[in-house]
Amino acid sequence: MNCTIIGGGIQGVSTGILLEYLGHETTIVSEAFAYLDGPDIPTVATDYAAASIYPVQIASEYTEDELIRRAESTFKPFYDAEEVPVRKHRHFYIYEDPHDESLPDRMGVQPIEEYDGYIPSRAGYDIRGGYTCEEYFVEMPEYIPQLFRTYKRLGGTLTQQTLTAADIPDLRGTIFNCSGYGSLELFDDTSMRAIRGHILTLEYDGEFPLPFSYTYTPTTDEYGHYAYMYPREETVLFGGSYLEGDIINGEWRGETPAKPMTVDTETIPERIYTVNADIMRNHDSVSVNKSKISAKQGYRPYRADGMRVEQDADGIIHNYGHGGSGVSLSWWSAIQAVNYLSDVDTSVLSPIATAVGQAANWLCVRYITENMWTASGSSPEALALLSL
Ligand SMILES: Cc1cc2nc3c(=O)[nH]c(=O)nc-3n(C[C@H](O)[C@H](O)[C@H](O)COP(=O)(O)OP(=O)(O)OC[C@H]3O[C@@H](n4cnc5c(N)ncnc54)[C@H](O)[C@@H]3O)c2cc1C
Repeated sequence: MNCTIIGGGIQGVSTGILLEYLGHETTIVSEAFAYLDGPDIPTVATDYAAASIYPVQIASEYTEDELIRRAESTFKPFYDAEEVPVRKHRHFYIYEDPHDESLPDRMGVQPIEEYDGYIPSRAGYDIRGGYTCEEYFVEMPEYIPQLFRTYKRLGGTLTQQTLTAADIPDLRGTIFNCSGYGSLELFDDTSMRAIRGHILTLEYDGEFPLPFSYTYTPTTDEYGHYAYMYPREETVLFGGSYLEGDIINGEWRGETPAKPMTVDTETIPERIYTVNADIMRNHDSVSVNKSKISAKQGYRPYRADGMRVEQDADGIIHNYGHGGSGVSLSWWSAIQAVNYLSDVDTSVLSPIATAVGQAANWLCVRYITENMWTASGSSPEALALLSL
């Protein structure tokens, strides 16, 4: 069947791969494509995800443990497959204050007091609560281009176009809406919110990525909200801001940080720098030099009425509103969405993961480079990125 997918973020490309794999003829139509048009387009949330496979900042009908199981089980085939940039590392979810919430159902979870290895902490502070677990982590700057190569290799087409609501009836075949925050205008979904998040990027010169990450909550007296660190192959990311707001006439309006600080011309919550810099002080491979840090901000497409994966009365299949969990739930959501058209279950993910791994191959890269764009608005950055 012919299908049009609106949106070039992680939901669009994952849904597109699945449809192509099942033999449908698809086109992804999007204003911009994650990473192919550069890693810093605020309206493309996928450019900003770290990305840990752990669902957060999402409204849904499912419990947290159910979402965790869906996220981890659907990423396992990608972790198991060769040449797919999905790693597993140790994660610390820890507090300086005593904390006695029940443990979430995460991989290999154990209370922090039972763990006898290295535990990240600030100088002069003890860890009094939380847990440690294993966590899948996606190396996004490699993974997303690899997904687009896979999609193209399976026969998919990319078309660069900014759509309006009036264009929707003219789109070809079955429509999948993966436009994230764009659903506010395209489908008049007024429950969409843009939750601002900052990412600081630091240089890292270790031979292998750091084998751990953390979500660290300092004493309530001081900040009362966490800061996190995630390791990539060549950089380290600091983050942890969630500022509620909306984008009005292209401008973001919303909460401002309680304790602001300026890094690389961006106004960030101070703790993202101070707490992380303190914790990472003893790691020589990370250069915590404020003048060398780059900062950027993106928007999580949060849907107050709950993540939407359903078919509407006009037959349009929606897959958007994943807040801070869009990477974690990408494969699970794609399967749910595609199920409205074709019967499919999670067994399809192993062969798809193999196909994604094969897209790391340079011959495939060359093929894609030569056949990538159909739109007149072709992006030179996209071609450069794909001709690695
Ligand atoms: C700082 C930060 C950190 C994050 N960390 C994580 C993490 O660790 N783990 C995790 O799982 N998630 C994380 N997320 C959340 C994740 O990035 C999002 O949930 C996910 O990327 C949403 O994907 P999407 O495809 O639905 O939306 P998007 O990536 O926003 O894609 C929407 C697409 O639709 C297109 N579009 C919109 N309107 C139109 C239109 N009118 N016409 C044509 N095209 C249109 C856009 O150009 C874009 O390509 C993070 C987000 C942020 C901001």
